[in-house]
Amino acid sequence: MTAQTAEQRDLTAVIGLEVHVQLETASKIFCGCSTDAEEDEAPNSRTCPVCLGLPGALPVLNEGAAEAAVKIGKALGSEIPEQTSFHRKNYYYPDLPKNFQITQYDAPICDGGELAFSVDGERRSVGIERAHLEEDPGSLSHAGGSIDTAEYTLVDYNRAGTPLMEIVTAPDFRSAAEARAFLAKLTEVLEYLGVFDATRNGSLRVDANLSIVEGVDDGEGFDEATLESANRTEVKNISSHKGAEKALAYEETRQKNAVKRGREVEQETRHWDESRGITVSMRSKEEEKDYRYFREADLPPLRVAGWKERIEIPELPDARRERFREEYGLDSESAAKLTSTKQVADFYERIAGSFDPDTAATWVADNLLGELNYRDMAITDVDDRLEEFTRLVELVDDDEITVKNAEEIVLRRMLDDGLAPEAIVDQEGLGKTGEDVVATAVDEAIDGNPDAVEDYHAGEDGALNFLVGQVMGKTQGSADPGTVNELLRERLDG
Ligand SMILES: [Zn+2]
Repeated sequence: MTAQTAEQRDLTAVIGLEVHVQLETASKIFCGCSTDAEEDEAPNSRTCPVCLGLPGALPVLNEGAAEAAVKIGKALGSEIPEQTSFHRKNYYYPDLPKNFQITQYDAPICDGGELAFSVDGERRSVGIERAHLEEDPGSLSHAGGSIDTAEYTLVDYNRAGTPLMEIVTAPDFRSAAEARAFLAKLTEVLEYLGVFDATRNGSLRVDANLSIVEGVDDGEGFDEATLESANRTEVKNISSHKGAEKALAYEETRQKNAVKRGREVEQETRHWDESRGITVSMRSKEEEKDYRYFREADLPPLRVAGWKERIEIPELPDARRERFREEYGLDSESAAKLTSTKQVADFYERIAGSFDPDTAATWVADNLLGELNYRDMAITDVDDRLEEFTRLVELVDDDEITVKNAEEIVLRRMLDDGLAPEAIVDQEGLGKTGEDVVATAVDEAIDGNPDAVEDYHAGEDGALNFLVGQVMGKTQGSADPGTVNELLRERLDG
């Protein structure tokens, strides 16, 4: 066998993610400071002795953060231990007022687990190694924009102490696209749990490890020796799903090029520069021992047994999607749209009982979500108007207004003017005219236009249209043209 050149070898990217998500709690993880950033708040205004790390200040664990962590563990199928504890991760960096971060080292609140997702129509599942609670550091703003070119840096501790969950995956991803699809699925699950808000600024940060190994993953994964054979880089400063895909695609290409040219990939930490679309070298990668982890003596161990069993989680997106298909007979596309968020799914289920499920699906998935999206609104903005919306669909279902008027006039004005559907129907005169009114108008049109009647019987095409027009005029356009057409023919041909 001849030796293959580097060009011909199969090279595969091995990617693992550390995902930091902000937990939705009212106050910070170890103090009473609010987690809600006021617009234009002054730097360092939302702080106290605890989150500023002043001497003698003692942390107290936020119960809501611990409960959110247990929910995440249950959703990911993690082992949740009887007891967990907190540690100090020591490092010196200006965003950390205490010079250590309170985190969990060898006793994470969630151990193991997995998460399934779809990418390019294929089902994938990725292992979760662990998930643990920790506090967020403060934020640094680099004058001039970029960390490696800034003249000076300002520090703001308003973020310091924000509760985070760090979710660490196994190195199971083989492409940047997979990592992106996983992040989308993870955030969807977290939003269903009600512990995470993707619209909150800075609520998601990702560190990604990537290395290039030789060979092809046949679905069994690579063995330990192969995984250890390559140096890997850790890419920091990723804050979106799309950013993760771009940063990893860049890093994959950079490392593959190095390997193909026979150069060694440095084991290092790199910084994702979003504006330039590249990763830049920051420092050689720290090792665990550099952090001198030890137990946080200011916080007692957290006993989880006794209350973790009582923490409930809602039906998760995949299960709900499946149930929508079975219970309501929806196609995959409608089921996916209607379960895109828990709030949309709840809204649909609250009205699905009153109508044919397909009618309800069309109204929520197509009409309502479409109009909301156009107005940059969310379903939560109209949650309290569910009854009004149900009455609108009823008006159409009972044939009292036309579908077109309901969609194009009533629904839009309900959202724009905040009016009830009946009020709009009255104001706009949209009510379909009663049968006897239409019948009378038909009689009048025939009696009043003998010439047109004669033309109709003579086979002139335009005559019937003329008579329809007369009836529509008499009913101010509220009659249904099809019905008018039918009634006229009956009378004229009868
Ligand atoms: Zn505080």
